[in-house]
Amino acid sequence: RASLSPLRKINSVINSYAMARQKEIDTLQKTAEFRREFIADISHELKTPIFATQGYIHTLLDGAIEDKQVRMKFLKRAAKSLDSLDVLVQDLLTLNQMESGVIKFNFTDFDLKDLVQEVVDQLEHKASKRDVVIKLDFDPEKNYITHADRPKIYRVCQNLIFNGVNYNHNGGEVKVSIKTHKNSIQVDIKDTGQGIPPEDLKRIFERFYRVEKSRSKEKGGTGLGLAIVKHILEGHKSKISVSSTVGKGSIFSFSLPLEKEKKAAD
Ligand code: ADP
Repeated sequence: RASLSPLRKINSVINSYAMARQKEIDTLQKTAEFRREFIADISHELKTPIFATQGYIHTLLDGAIEDKQVRMKFLKRAAKSLDSLDVLVQDLLTLNQMESGVIKFNFTDFDLKDLVQEVVDQLEHKASKRDVVIKLDFDPEKNYITHADRPKIYRVCQNLIFNGVNYNHNGGEVKVSIKTHKNSIQVDIKDTGQGIPPEDLKRIFERFYRVEKSRSKEKGGTGLGLAIVKHILEGHKSKISVSSTVGKGSIFSFSLPLEKEKKAAD
């Protein structure tokens, strides 16, 4: 085959250089767009608790402070708004650190059933206030040893079990099951809540995505919980999966490695 003429060679070099430059420009534009969107989203989310706190404080200053009962009510509400602002900022920092790869994972061996039990003990009070029962399904005699970042997996279980309680109805149930496979441990969090429509299922892991904007916000969520869950599991080379039926409930599942040595010792 005849080799390319010098002119065509130069042309092809110029073409591939132009293509590479275009790719760089596209990436930069995408990053800029992502940043703009992110800042717009954050500003929007921060406004809610800030406006609420401002409202309560100005009402107090306008005279409501004179009445002891009203004063207490408004101060409590202002404190609650500031608490939710604090949670939002914390979640944003965590997500930002995860997305930029700054967060380090600290892997150790631990028993998943103990971790799940701790999370459930912590959430029991919130669940009973909503008349939701949390059931556990694992063998208490068995070891479910995994190798993972314990505080981060605690956060994963906390977010998923809390959502199961939060998006449930009165008298509903959340069942947390742990089972072992050959090389992995699977955790399923199944609720009898409102479920998630198919068109929303793919998007619930995006930051600030809420199925029913006003209803979810009313329930006090930051809209960042599942985005954080997804990032943490990615850091463990794992994935979160979900299946849901509207009106019946949802199941969120993830797997972690089953610690080999302990498995052999079983
Ligand atoms: P939020 O802080 O709003 O709960 P998440 O990121 O944890 O944010 O969840 C995103 C959205 O997905 C929620 O606002 C809610 O609409 C929906 N969602 C999450 N978990 C469940 C669940 N178990 N049942 C029904 N809807 C859920």
